Amino acid sequence: MTENKRLDKYAIAAALQDIAALLELKGGKDRFKARAYQTGARVVAGMSEDMGEAVLANRLTSMRGIGDALASQIEQLYLTGESSVLRGLKKDFPPGIIELSGVPGLSISKVKTLHEALGITSVAELKEAAEAGKIRSIKGFGVKTEEKLLEAIATHRQRGKGNERLHLHRALQAAEQIRGYLETAGGATEISFAGSLRRWKETVGTIRIVANAKRPAALVEKFLRYPLIVEVIEKMEEACTVRLNEGARVSLVAARPEEFALALLTETGSKAHIARLQQIAGSENGQSKVRRPRARNIKVSKALQGEAEIYDQLGMDYIPPELREDVGEIEAAMSGKLPVDLLTLKDIKGMVHCHTTYSDGKHSVEAMALAAEAMGMKYVTITDHSPTAFYAGGVTLDRLQQQWEEIAAVQEKVKVKILRGTESDIIASGHLDYPDKILEQFDVIVASIHSRYKMDSAKMTERIVTAMRQPVFKIWGHALGRLLQRRPPFDCDVEKILDVIAESRAAIEVNGDPHRLDMEPRWIREARKRKIKFVISVDAHSTGAMNNLKYGVGIARRGWLRKPEVLNTLGAKAFANAVRPA
Ligand SMILES: [Zn+2]
Ligand SMILES: [Zn+2]
Repeated sequence: MTENKRLDKYAIAAALQDIAALLELKGGKDRFKARAYQTGARVVAGMSEDMGEAVLANRLTSMRGIGDALASQIEQLYLTGESSVLRGLKKDFPPGIIELSGVPGLSISKVKTLHEALGITSVAELKEAAEAGKIRSIKGFGVKTEEKLLEAIATHRQRGKGNERLHLHRALQAAEQIRGYLETAGGATEISFAGSLRRWKETVGTIRIVANAKRPAALVEKFLRYPLIVEVIEKMEEACTVRLNEGARVSLVAARPEEFALALLTETGSKAHIARLQQIAGSENGQSKVRRPRARNIKVSKALQGEAEIYDQLGMDYIPPELREDVGEIEAAMSGKLPVDLLTLKDIKGMVHCHTTYSDGKHSVEAMALAAEAMGMKYVTITDHSPTAFYAGGVTLDRLQQQWEEIAAVQEKVKVKILRGTESDIIASGHLDYPDKILEQFDVIVASIHSRYKMDSAKMTERIVTAMRQPVFKIWGHALGRLLQRRPPFDCDVEKILDVIAESRAAIEVNGDPHRLDMEPRWIREARKRKIKFVISVDAHSTGAMNNLKYGVGIARRGWLRKPEVLNTLGAKAFANAVRPA
């Protein structure tokens, strides 16, 4: 039966990944093709639609990143289990070439010779042969080459390619694909993210995953067959670290049920937090534990009860992962002072900071309103750019009039309340774009800096202070202008600005755009001390970007923000009252 030959999406992704690797080895213009296959592998592994349906309905090419050539290979793989392109490429290379060519100093012709002489097809076999002194006898190799190869294998393992960190959303996407794969593979009763991903750090160095498995070693073996793995960096019986095709590092720890909670806790970190816990556990060893007064009303989901028990044994309340930085959370957990109403995603009732086609957004007012409604929001703020941001299609006064008319018309058709807003530039003098007379007519103002980032600290501080002191109420948008891993926050006296905000008509945005995630948690904590209010925004330039909300909430939680401190947890009327400019 031909049915048996049909491959699932992971096997297809693996084949595409092999094609990419071989094309990369061919070099030249094939490297561009290689990139297309690499993207294809990622898209296929992440497909939510049934592969068979997509193939039969000819829908592959409608997926982003899949062109005709790629689609025909995917179809072949699905229907016959083979790819003509892969078959052709394999003829050009010795077996094991993909793995072996990663070892520095091993050219394609050397790999060929090694295969012909000793039948070597993997790095492990190469290492074994080198250690046994078999390489030196091959013509053109010698003792020195043998030593160099052993060295290269050792450093190659530690070095890896690119130690860059992933943006949070990319890390989450990769982690979710792996979770999907492991769930399909079976053998784990629970799969949890850990590490900086679980703590919602802005960027992730290693995607850490902990799985609850009765047979850990078998699960690790299954994971190692994940198609997007291009390199195994480290492998132990119950854990491994690998690199994926696009550079991400992933570590999997498979733990038996009785060890799962502790493994999850330690893999989640942070290092400083775990070190403190170990210290406390050590000092309490053998003593009868004194029970401290605790709040005991922190809600813990069933899945996390194991972790909660460990905290309980240490005499403290359960500490949510976002707080585990050793910046006072342990003391708070011991004295029952952790925030009990830490912000959660479901607390958010309004989608704040949305762009439309009136400036640089992709979608219409109506599309944005409907998308917010579909996510259960009670209100949405349309905040397109102001005229100074001409490069982003800032909205001039007559266009603004037009937008307000459109908003009124759309409002007739949708349930979600649409608030008329602006993302007004804070111009160099510290004043807001649009005349006061206009500003007062908005329902909500986000005030942001989009130009002249390089002022000296004193001037920048003065600029923002002036803006915050404007009589209209405003939300300070993407506060310090950082773009993660690309542009640092600008220079200014943040504490002084926070002092001014505390006595002005202003709130601060936590921007959920995963490239920004601004303002950062340490400054949120400083602002909280001054009783400043926040909004969690999406800075959405498309309906899809409304999913940024979860990142904003994650950052807010790391800043210890409580529900009552966040304005868009209010209902539509209360929110409109709280942010009304005049
Ligand atoms: Zn902006
Ligand atoms: Zn914006």
